[in-house]
Amino acid sequence: MKIAILPGDGIGPEIIAQARLVLENLDESFTLEEAPVGGAGYEADGHPLPPATLQLAKEADAILFGSVGDFKYDQLPRELRPEQAILGLRKHLALFANLRPAICYPELTSASSLKPEIVAGLDILIVRELNGDVYFGSPKGIRTAMDGLFPGSREGFDTMRYSEPEVRRIGHVAFAAARKRNKRVCSVDKSNVLETSQLWREIMSEIGKEYPDVELTHMYVDNAAMQLVKAPKAFDVVVTGNLFGDILSDEAAMLTGSIGMLPSASLDAHNKGLYEPSHGSAPDIAGQGIANPLATILSAAMMLRYSLGKPEQATRIERAVQQVLTEGYRTRDIYTDGTKKVGTAQMGQAVLKALE
Ligand code: NAD
Repeated sequence: MKIAILPGDGIGPEIIAQARLVLENLDESFTLEEAPVGGAGYEADGHPLPPATLQLAKEADAILFGSVGDFKYDQLPRELRPEQAILGLRKHLALFANLRPAICYPELTSASSLKPEIVAGLDILIVRELNGDVYFGSPKGIRTAMDGLFPGSREGFDTMRYSEPEVRRIGHVAFAAARKRNKRVCSVDKSNVLETSQLWREIMSEIGKEYPDVELTHMYVDNAAMQLVKAPKAFDVVVTGNLFGDILSDEAAMLTGSIGMLPSASLDAHNKGLYEPSHGSAPDIAGQGIANPLATILSAAMMLRYSLGKPEQATRIERAVQQVLTEGYRTRDIYTDGTKKVGTAQMGQAVLKALE
């Protein structure tokens, strides 16, 4: 099996190096092939997603992605900015389902800004649709307003839209995931205001009938944002569109205390996927050897489970991560008094040792 390794920018290469060591130390033979992406792709080939990188991603069985972006590329035209690489990969590989678990390890409850009793043992999964919604709906642009409150002034506009098949396929991903968990799906929308959301809710209810063993509830997005901080453990799987999912998945991530702990997966219709930490390229700490590699290592575990058919290896890695936390190893972002502060490479070594 071939894995495309795309380290990217900032802390990307540092954290990917540790995940790569973990993969190389499993008793499985994978072909690991690396290629530049993001700012590194632009430097190497004049484009954030060079053709050879895209080709490798297409050929591979799965993609392990670090992170892209650096403020030094902010002046580039939009199509050449590092972040375009992610959008390009999602589009070319038809990745439409973003799975982001938010797990609060008992050892890290003090890292959360919420009270320990609210987050201890938290284990929820946000399923976000990735290809549609107001991010991609057309028409969009900036024009001179013909009507509205201020005719003649400049206005920005976007189009929120979802087709029925788009809602159906993300709905099935969420219900299938819930079946392997606690059998509850909460569909989040804004159907009291948006037509798009009314269709979304109607279709989710229809899909729910195909999964009688899974309980379906609906929630408006504003309430969901409140409930996530009030009683997050009440959720199991949350399914929502691109825009609401973008915001709620970051909110859920922060409940756990550190974005450095959270993996993510973006899947196509055949379970091929791109796996990456939920955080960005953290240019503020890049090159210092202090980034937390655990989100990337846990992303490699998700890759083994969802795309490579090796759930037992995934569980081994997840247990090793749990063990290093129990042993007290902490990178700076999750450090508290009385624990052992380590750097990126030392944390990777601790996971390798725990794997043995
Ligand atoms: P960020 O996630 O990179 O960083 C936010 C904060 O979290 C920073 O203080 C950073 O030091 C810290 N942090 C992030 N990951 C960490 C880790 N593994 N260990 C320890 N601390 C960590 O978000 P940002 O600062 O808003 O964005 C920085 C760059 O990343 C931007 O160019 C942005 O566009 C890009 N970005 C890329 C992705 C991606 O590659 N998928 C996602 C989000 C942002």
